[in-house]
Amino acid sequence: ALSAEVASKSEQIWVGVRLRPLNDAEKRSRNNSCWHVTSATSLKQSEVLGDRVSKSSITGDITTYTFDRVFSAETDSTTVYNDAAQRIVISGMQGINGTIFAYGQTSSGKTHTMKSIVSSGIKEVFEHIHNTPSREFLLHIAAMEIYNEVCRDLLKDSGASVRLLDDPERGTVAEGLTEEPVRSLEHLLQLVADAETRRQVGAHALNRNSSRSHQIIRLTIESRIPNKPTPAASAAECSGLLLSSLNFVDLAGSERYSGTGANGQRLKEGCHINQSLLALGKVIRALTDGKSVAHVPYRDSKLTRILQHSLGGNARTAIVCTVSPAIEHLDQSKKTLGFAAAAK
Ligand code: ADP
Ligand code: MG
Repeated sequence: ALSAEVASKSEQIWVGVRLRPLNDAEKRSRNNSCWHVTSATSLKQSEVLGDRVSKSSITGDITTYTFDRVFSAETDSTTVYNDAAQRIVISGMQGINGTIFAYGQTSSGKTHTMKSIVSSGIKEVFEHIHNTPSREFLLHIAAMEIYNEVCRDLLKDSGASVRLLDDPERGTVAEGLTEEPVRSLEHLLQLVADAETRRQVGAHALNRNSSRSHQIIRLTIESRIPNKPTPAASAAECSGLLLSSLNFVDLAGSERYSGTGANGQRLKEGCHINQSLLALGKVIRALTDGKSVAHVPYRDSKLTRILQHSLGGNARTAIVCTVSPAIEHLDQSKKTLGFAAAAK
């Protein structure tokens, strides 16, 4: 009800793929990139993969995959931000919720990609505020991590877990989660860096695998027209309040996630299935299939509950699927592209 501008109802989820460059170790082992970017929107498996390639992958089907955008290994971070995230950040400043995800296996470049999207996004937000003197803005930031279906506050040192509650008015609320008022661009960048450090330190201290956690940076944006008493309009009409949240999500590594759902074997692996990643896949497929909100299984995980109002409905969503060029990652890369294709 607070959105002045409403996104078109059936707006699709934007899906892009980003190929990372070969790293030094991969180059040393005479890897060639397994993937060949064929246009701004497509890629396919390379036909000649060097001497380390197995026969089956040479003779297998060479499928061309098409998405909203495919970023080659040479694409700079500014281009990735401009194409994948910018319009979501700008509509976030105008009262429309949005979410940007990085999805892919561990080491494919999720954190690298999301960090630069977050810092460019934050700069864009402050530029927008500077260029919009007619409105007053108030920003809050929250940062959280979900590991094994436990949500932790990344703006607090305690590492205490955060409970999710259902509020009849506001939907899912993270009880006691820090919502830090933002004072400046530098302050916001510092809070984001602190949150990232706590994610790493927490993983180390608790001897767990940080590639299995999801990180959400949530920026809440409130704006209004400063109250100038006009005789005709009431205070509420004057203020033109807009409220929205922008979510930047660095997902857990997709390597333990079966895009087709849990089969018998996988169920036995219990702890290796990431409930939130599985639920996200289902939610995205339900949204892509055009299911009505009542039939989207948001309630199946912490991640999808937290993001419910920023995913589907009037919200805008982009997923950047990150892909490793290395031969040893070929199977996982194909799974990632399969997930990306299903999200379209
Ligand atoms: P993930 O978060 O998916 O596990 P990272 O973002 O940590 O992966 O990336 C793994 C390594 O590859 C890091 O050292 C990172 O700096 C590097 N890397 C990833 N993507 C790129 C890229 N597009 N360009 C240059 N280096 C990259
Ligand atoms: Mg990472």
